[in-house]
Amino acid sequence: MKISVRLPRRRQSSRSGLYFILCGVTLAVQAVFLTPAQAIQDKLTFASRDINEMWARQFQQLGRSWVSPRVYIYSGRIQTPCGVMNNWNAQYCPRNHSIYLNEPFVRRINHQVGDFAAITVLAHEYGHAVQRLLGLSTVSRYPVQDELQADCFAGFYAQDANRRKLLDPGDIPEATAQSYASGDPAFDLNAHGTPNQRVRAFHLGFDQGFQSCLSYSTWHQRFR
Ligand SMILES: [Zn+2]
Repeated sequence: MKISVRLPRRRQSSRSGLYFILCGVTLAVQAVFLTPAQAIQDKLTFASRDINEMWARQFQQLGRSWVSPRVYIYSGRIQTPCGVMNNWNAQYCPRNHSIYLNEPFVRRINHQVGDFAAITVLAHEYGHAVQRLLGLSTVSRYPVQDELQADCFAGFYAQDANRRKLLDPGDIPEATAQSYASGDPAFDLNAHGTPNQRVRAFHLGFDQGFQSCLSYSTWHQRFR
C-alpha cells in the first residue's frame, strides 16, 4: 500500500489514534520506534487513519454518527476490559470500543504475506467496530456471520482505497491469501468461516461494496 500523505509527527489531541503499548506503557505513536519494523508501523498508522476516515464518510452518508475506535499495538500480554490479550492475536473490544493488534503478529504477516495482508487484519477489526456502532452484531445469530461480515467490510475498505489509487498491484492477492489463511478447517457456525468463505466475503465487499456486506446480518435466515 502506498502512503499518500506525510504523517504528522506531533502528538494527536483527539481521543482516537494509534497507540503502542510497550512493557505496559502506552506511547503515542509519533515518538517511538526507529527500528526495522518502522515501515509496517508507519503503514499501519497511515492505514488506521485512512480506514477511520473512510468509515466517517460512510457513516455520514448513512446519517449515522461515527465514533473513532482507539487502536492499540502491543507486544506480549496485556490486560484489557475484554480480558488478557496474548501474542498472535488481533481483536476488537466492544467494552472500550478499542482495537488491539499484536505487534509480532502483524510484523510476521507483513513479512510472510505482505503489508496489505496486515492492513486487512486491521480493516477486519474496524469492521467489528462498524458492526457495533450500527447495531449489526445484535441481528446476527452466529459468530461466523459477524466474522464474515467484518471480512466483507475489509474488502469494502480495499475497494475504496483502490479507487483512491492507494493500492499496489500485489495488495489484493495479499489480502486474499491472508483471508484464506485465517479460515477454519471445517465449517462451524461459532467460528470464523472456512478459508473459501472468508475469501468470498472479502471479495464481495471489494467487488460490490458496503451494501452487499449487510446480507451477512440476516444470513442465518437461510438455516431456518
Ligand atoms: Zn473478527
